[in-house]
Amino acid sequence: MGETKYIFVTGGVASSLGKGIISSSIGKLLQARGYNVTIQKFDPYINIDPGTLNPYEHGECYVTVDGHEADLDLGHYERFLGIQTTKANNITTGRIYKSVIDKERRGDYLGKTIQVIPHITDEIKRNVKLLGSKYKFDFVITEIGGTVGDIESLPYLESIRQLKWEMGRNALCVHLTYVPYLAAAGELKTKPTQHSVKELQSVGIQPDILVLRTEHELSTNLKKKVALFCNVDENAVVQSIDMPTIYEVPLRMQEQGLDVTILQKMGLPVGETPTLGPWRDFLDRRHKATEKVKIGLVGKYDLQDAYKSILEALSQAATYNDRKADIHFINSEKLTDANVEEQIKEMDGIIICPGFGQRGIEGKFVAIKYARTHNVPTFGICLGMQCIAIEFARNVLGYTDANSREMDEKTPHNVIDIMEEQKAITNMGGTMRLGAYECILDQHSKTFEAYKSEHIQERHRHRYEFNNDYKQEYEKAGMKCAGINPESDLVEIIEIPTLKWFIGVQFHPEYSSTVLKPHPLFLSFIKAAIDK
Ligand code: GLN
Repeated sequence: MGETKYIFVTGGVASSLGKGIISSSIGKLLQARGYNVTIQKFDPYINIDPGTLNPYEHGECYVTVDGHEADLDLGHYERFLGIQTTKANNITTGRIYKSVIDKERRGDYLGKTIQVIPHITDEIKRNVKLLGSKYKFDFVITEIGGTVGDIESLPYLESIRQLKWEMGRNALCVHLTYVPYLAAAGELKTKPTQHSVKELQSVGIQPDILVLRTEHELSTNLKKKVALFCNVDENAVVQSIDMPTIYEVPLRMQEQGLDVTILQKMGLPVGETPTLGPWRDFLDRRHKATEKVKIGLVGKYDLQDAYKSILEALSQAATYNDRKADIHFINSEKLTDANVEEQIKEMDGIIICPGFGQRGIEGKFVAIKYARTHNVPTFGICLGMQCIAIEFARNVLGYTDANSREMDEKTPHNVIDIMEEQKAITNMGGTMRLGAYECILDQHSKTFEAYKSEHIQERHRHRYEFNNDYKQEYEKAGMKCAGINPESDLVEIIEIPTLKWFIGVQFHPEYSSTVLKPHPLFLSFIKAAIDK
């Protein structure tokens, strides 16, 4: 196509309007027209990455194949586009400053005073363009975290201003705002949008396209008014109304010609409108599925975003099994032998969630014991897998004090132990076992049945591991080590073959489940849950 085109997605009025979904939808529509697209996120906080952030601060931490701990929006990019993102797709202010400061120490700027403009902005611009120049993408969509008007966002906006100036038609800004409905007046209000656009204009950026988030249908008159006040073409004012599923958003954007407007503004041929066939089939199937499959999510965070990828993977797998995922959060901190039955009895299957630290861990053992002795389909992910191993050691192998070294450093039965290479590590940030690793499956296992392949690759994020000293004992007592890392011999998958579906995985399969390619383990887990 020639030169890479850059689309910047900014947001105003409020946070949480769904910039990630809009960026993903734009990406999807351009990709459907045959373009090679990637999406990146720039986060204006000082942390180097979100790896050390609490889920209450920032939701789930997503992990890329190359082992980067990333913002959860990268999960949306991968689920919508079916692409794989990398470390270069998520940049924070912390990383920008760190790299500028490292260069300063090396002497790269010898003699100069280092300033936000041009040094920080140049580094931001370099990172904006990195993916495009390295991999020859047709489109690079850059989502800027935070909202216009934040102090932290300013260097990013200044960089966009410069890039738009330098690139002309090859760069464009999509600004997402909110149109509130005042019930007392019975009116939708455009003033916050006008102010937000003014804020952008005050730093020298004229948005090319406005996406208005709203809970009510916007009239043509209202859109005309916004266009007039904000110096934007009428056809470049698009509404984004609340949808029953985020996967509807690309279709609603396509109906309003958002992709066509982008192509025209960038001087590209429009051609035929892609049908988005498989995407529509997925949505049809999702809408038609009325029967529910009830899944209990046993974890400690009563917070949607903390388990974002797991929720998406479950709902995708449910759709492909023609069911509606009915997901219930089960707080592991409150689970006891006395109340476990009433909480899990109704469930068709349970997920034992990933996590760190002692809080809520005993409740996970309670849930696992109940599920194991009542043959409830159970899927343990990362810490969840470790908990399955510990519960088995305590209640089947008879080591009542079995534990993970993470929870009890002095446990005499450390069935989950710290990895050798982790022992010397003192820094917390970015030092876990991270990213995709190979795993070889036992051909006589449920996991193999699901994957239908012996060699798999899955993403990891943990410091602790199944302790191979106990492997034989486990296998003798009926727990199969169904997946092994060929290089390190680490056990990555355990399952109890005599039960209907009882599998724990040391990795995070949820990160690689996408709309058009649901994850085989989630598909097979949901199928087993339905059969229950
Ligand atoms: N806390 C465990 C470990 O570090 C599991 C991590 C996780 O669930 N992601 O090994």
